[in-house]
Amino acid sequence: MLVSAKEMLKKAKAGQYAVGQFNINNLEWTKAILLTAQECNSPVILGVSEGAGKYMGGYNTVVGMVVNMIKDQNITVPVALHLDHGSFEHCYKCMEAGFSSVMFDGSHYAIEENVAKTKQLVADANEKGISVEAEVGSIGGEEDGVVGAGDIADPKECKAIADLGIDFLAAGIGNIHGKYPSNWAGLSFDTLDEIQKLTGDMPLVLHGGTGIPIEMIKQAISLGVAKINVNTECQLAFADATRKYIEAGKDLEGKGFDPRKLLAPGVSAIKEAVKEKMEIFGSIGKA
Ligand SMILES: [Zn+2]
Repeated sequence: MLVSAKEMLKKAKAGQYAVGQFNINNLEWTKAILLTAQECNSPVILGVSEGAGKYMGGYNTVVGMVVNMIKDQNITVPVALHLDHGSFEHCYKCMEAGFSSVMFDGSHYAIEENVAKTKQLVADANEKGISVEAEVGSIGGEEDGVVGAGDIADPKECKAIADLGIDFLAAGIGNIHGKYPSNWAGLSFDTLDEIQKLTGDMPLVLHGGTGIPIEMIKQAISLGVAKINVNTECQLAFADATRKYIEAGKDLEGKGFDPRKLLAPGVSAIKEAVKEKMEIFGSIGKA
């Protein structure tokens, strides 16, 4: 069964740790992340971007796969299925399909329209027990065609959006999707501190968790970040392990071409990456 991300993130914020959102791309990703969460006794959020949802065959397919895998694999830790950077329209599509959580990315709208749309969505999601993430200040880099400039969020705007009844808030504090450039200025902790002071116990979300130094992650958690999104890291780990398998010519040995063998090193690599993140985030044993 899926749960909304509301309770797990409230607990995380109060307990000063963060729950990882790991984006899924297919069955292998889903299985690797769910099994690792179970092994680590950690709550987990499976993120699905609009592009990944389309790739996997559609939102109903995703819900069917995740819900039934939880059942078949006896996953008992809390699992939320969350739309990542959703448009207003796709938030509704996912809520209808059975997602337990959605992110409305209204950061490209003027603040008034972001407020109006977020209000509407919160009212409809609340009715179904679905959690809502909103975003203020676009996050740098590119994710599925959504390109952000990497703003620093205005804490007052954060407070305005937080007051609309959302469950957790993503605020741009210099974080970027994908790999970080070598001249990256780092996270703006002053901004984060100010946002937390204004938004109280609202769990904050850090996007672009790949490549942020561990000390910065820990500092962000100490300033109210309770959800950290990881996507690129698992992709890099999977690609690297798969490349090594092919380059070693293992697909040419015996039945090494069998997808169950061919994809196995990549799956192990994802599991390792997820476990490492859960350790850093402090979510192990918190299910
Ligand atoms: Zn993001």
